[in-house]
Amino acid sequence: MKAIRRFTVRPVLPEPLRPLSDLARNLRWSWHTETRDLFQSVDPERWAASEGDPVRLLGSVPPARLAELAGDRRFLRRLTAVADDLNDYVTGDRWYQSRPQAAELPAAVAYFSPEFGITAALPQYSGGLGILAGDHLKSASDLGVPLIGVGLLYRHGYFRQTLSRDGWQQEHYPVLDPNELPVVPLKEADGTPAHVSLALPGGRVLRARIWLAQVGRVPLLMLDSDVEDNDFGERGVTDRLYGGGSEHRLLQEMLLGIGGVRAVRTYCRLTGHAEPEVFHTNEGHAGFLGLERIAELCAQGLEFDSALEAVRAGTVFTTHTPVPAGIDRFDRELVAHHFGPDAELPGIGVEHILRLGMETYPGGEPNLFNMAVMGLRLAQRANGVSLLHGNVSREMFAGLWPGFDADEVPITSVTNGVHAPTWVAPEVVRLGARQLGDRRTEEALTVGGTERWDAVADVGDQEIWDLRRNLREQLVLEVRERLRASWRQRGAGTAELGWIDQALDPDVLTIGFARRVPSYKRLTLMLRDRDRLMDLLLHSERPVQVVVAGKAHPADDGGKRLVQELVRFADDPRVRHRIVFLPDYGMAMAQKLLPGCDIWLNNPLRPLEACGTSGMKSALNGGLNLSVLDGWWDEWFQPDFGWAIPTADGAATDPDRRDDIEAAALYDLLEQRVTPRFYERGRSGLPDRWIEMVRQTLTLLGPKVLAGRMVREYVERLYTPAAHAHRSMTPDAAAGLAAWKVRARAAWHGVSVDHVEAAVSTATAELGTTLALRVRVRLGDLTPDDVEVQAVSGRVDSEDRITDATTVPLKPTGGPDLEGHWTYEGPLSLDRTGPYGYTVRILPAHRLLASGAELGLVTAPSQGAVEGAGVLMR
Ligand SMILES: *Cc1c(COP(=O)(O)O)cnc(C)c1O
Repeated sequence: MKAIRRFTVRPVLPEPLRPLSDLARNLRWSWHTETRDLFQSVDPERWAASEGDPVRLLGSVPPARLAELAGDRRFLRRLTAVADDLNDYVTGDRWYQSRPQAAELPAAVAYFSPEFGITAALPQYSGGLGILAGDHLKSASDLGVPLIGVGLLYRHGYFRQTLSRDGWQQEHYPVLDPNELPVVPLKEADGTPAHVSLALPGGRVLRARIWLAQVGRVPLLMLDSDVEDNDFGERGVTDRLYGGGSEHRLLQEMLLGIGGVRAVRTYCRLTGHAEPEVFHTNEGHAGFLGLERIAELCAQGLEFDSALEAVRAGTVFTTHTPVPAGIDRFDRELVAHHFGPDAELPGIGVEHILRLGMETYPGGEPNLFNMAVMGLRLAQRANGVSLLHGNVSREMFAGLWPGFDADEVPITSVTNGVHAPTWVAPEVVRLGARQLGDRRTEEALTVGGTERWDAVADVGDQEIWDLRRNLREQLVLEVRERLRASWRQRGAGTAELGWIDQALDPDVLTIGFARRVPSYKRLTLMLRDRDRLMDLLLHSERPVQVVVAGKAHPADDGGKRLVQELVRFADDPRVRHRIVFLPDYGMAMAQKLLPGCDIWLNNPLRPLEACGTSGMKSALNGGLNLSVLDGWWDEWFQPDFGWAIPTADGAATDPDRRDDIEAAALYDLLEQRVTPRFYERGRSGLPDRWIEMVRQTLTLLGPKVLAGRMVREYVERLYTPAAHAHRSMTPDAAAGLAAWKVRARAAWHGVSVDHVEAAVSTATAELGTTLALRVRVRLGDLTPDDVEVQAVSGRVDSEDRITDATTVPLKPTGGPDLEGHWTYEGPLSLDRTGPYGYTVRILPAHRLLASGAELGLVTAPSQGAVEGAGVLMR
C-alpha cells in the first residue's frame, strides 16, 4: 500500500540527552571522530544501519535505550565533553581571528556553488566540484573564516547507481525528505519558514524555502522549491542535480544566484550575521548573483554602470572548466524572456544583461549567453584551480582581453586542496598523534605548514608498513561486502558467490581508480591491451589488484558503455578476484576506498583535468600517485614520491593512437617500476624503497594538498583584496570609475607611442648597463593621470616575443609640447645576458583597477616609432 502523505515524526530526547540533537545537527560530526564515536556508542547496530548518519540514528533508537543512556553517568560525561568541544570549536578564536590586521579582512564572504559534498548523509553533489565546495566550507570553518555557503536543496540529489546483470548502469532517484536530513528550516521572527521568491514570465512566481545546514562554524543556506505555494512546474525546479533541459537549468541557476543573494540577506537580517563584503562563485552556475546585487544598487539610485563596478569589486569567480564545450550556455532569447519588465530584475535593462554574457571574441556564438563569460565580466578577480589550469584558462578566455598576451589575462590560479580531517583515515591520524600530539596533528591537518609535517620523517619503516597493510586489509573486507551486495542486486544467488570470500588479497599491490566517468577521464584506458592487463593481474610473484568505481552522467550513454566494458572485464572468472567494479561511487565509499589503495591511478587526457583532487586524498593516507602530468600532479609531481605517465599530447593527434601510446606507457611503468618496488624487500625484510616513497608523499605533499592551504590562499590573495576594493567602492567612487572607463574607452584611439629611443648604443650593451629610455607619446583627450606608460623587457624567443617580462613604469617629464606630445623617461637595466628585448606600451590606469589588462585596452609603438628598440644582446 502506498501512503498518500508522508511526514517525519521526530524523536523526543530525554532532557540530559538534548545536546545529542545539537551534535547531530552540526555537520562537524562528519569530520570529528570523537563525535562519531559517541554516536556509535548510542547504539552500534543502529549506527551501522543508519550508515553513520546521526539524524537517522536518533530517529531509530528505541525510547528504552534513550532512557538508559539518560541515566548512564559515563555516557553523559562523554556527551558533555564532546558538546563542550563543539562549543569551543564554534566560538573560540581560530587562524582567521589571529591574523595581523584583522580589520582588513572581509567581515563575511558568501560562497555560492551548485553542489555541496559535505557528507554522504546530505547527498547534494555529483563529483569533484561539489566535494571541493564542501571541503572549502569545512576548511573555512576550521580556520575561522566567516563564510556563508549558498546552494540548492535537490529533492532527489544526484542519482544512485546500480548495475544490471550485464553491467549496464541503472539510475535511481530516491526522494530525500528534508526532515530526515541534517538541515533545519530558517525561520522568520514570527516562527514561519523564511522564503525567497522570484518573478517568472507570465506572472508566475517561483518560491523557495531556505534550509540551513550548519557546517561547523559555517552556515550553508539551501534553497528548495518544493513548497506547496508553488505551481507544479515550479515545485520541480530543485528536483535533481544537473537534470532537465535548458530552461530547467536556467531556472535552477536563477534561483541559486538571485534567490541565493536574497537568502543571504534574509539570513543576515534574521541572525545578525555580518553582511558579506565578498561574493565568491564556484564555477559559472551561480553567476546571476552579480545581477541581483546590481539590481539592489540600482534600487538605491546607482546607474547600471556604476553598480556594475561596485559589484565587480567584491566578486571572485572560480572557473573549473578547461573545455569550451563544458561551459553552461543558454539561448539569448531564453535569457531575455526570463529577465525584463514582466519577469526578474525589472530594474535592469535586458540589453545590459545580455551584453554581459555575449561571446565577443573570434569564434564566439552571437546567439548564446555564456555563463563563464558573464562570470568573468561580473568579477574583478578570477582564478583557475591549478597552475596548469590557470594557463589553460588564460588561453581559453584571452579573447575577452584583446591586445594582451594570454599570460597577461587577469585570471590567476589557486590550486585546489582537500579537507584532511574528512579524508584521512583515523588510523593515519592516530599515527600522527603519537608522533606529534593531538593538537599539533590537528593543526597540521587543518592549517598546514611544512614544519608540522616534517615530523612524519621520524616514523619508523615498520610502523608505516603495518599501517599500510592494515588499511589495505580493511579495504579488502569492505570491497567484498560491497561486491556481494552488488551481485545480489544483480540477481545472483548466494551459492554463486562463494568466490567473493577470496576476492582481492590484503597482501597484493592495490591500485584504485574512482571518479566520475566523462570520456576525458578514460576509465577504460587500462583495458587498452587486455592481455597485458591480465598478465599484470595474474603475475605469479608480483600481481596487482584493481578497484574501480564511477558514475556516468545519466544522459551519457558513451560513459555507460565504458562502465559496462569495465564491468564485463571484471566479471570474467579468470580475473574477478583481482579486479572489481563497485557501483554507486560517493563520499562514503571514497572514504573507505582511498586510504587502502597503494597506488592511485589517474589517466585523463591532458590538459582536461582542471585539478583533480582524489589523488590528493590518497596522498594524505600514504598512497602513491601514478598519473598523467595534468592538474595538480603537473605542478607537484616529484619522482621521489610517485610516477608520471608520459603523455603523447602534441605527438599523436589521432586519439586512438594517443590512447595506445599512453596505455603502453602505463603498462611499462607498472611492470618495470611500480610492482618491483612494492615487492622487492630490503635488508630489513621490508620494501624500504616503497616505504620511503610513502614517507616522502606525506612530508612533501601533505602540507600542499590541504584545503586549509587553499582557503588561506583564497583569503590572502583574493578575498582580502576584494574586500578592500569593495570598501573603496563608495557610490561616488563607483560612479567615478564607471565614467572614467567610458571616457578612457572613447579617447583610446587618440593614444599612441610615436617615438622610442634608447640613450646608449645597444650594440655595446652588456650586463649591468642601464639604458635611458625616452619615449614620446600622444594621449589625445587623456592625461598622464589616466595612463601608465611602461617599458616591458625580458628574454626574447626566436620570434622576438618577450617571454618573462618585467615591466617598469616610465615617468612624464614636463607638460605636452606644442604638437601635444608627452615625453616619458626611465631607466632600463640590462640584468640578464643572452637574447634580450624590450618594448614600450601604454595602458589605462586608475587606482581602482585590479589589473592593467582590465579594460582590454593597450597601445604599442606605431610603425616607425622605434629607434634602437627590440634590442638583441647575444
Ligand atoms: C574526491 C572525489 C571526487 C573528485 O575526484 P577527482 O579525482 O577530482 O575526479 C569525486 N567523487 C568523490 C566521491 C570524491 O570523493
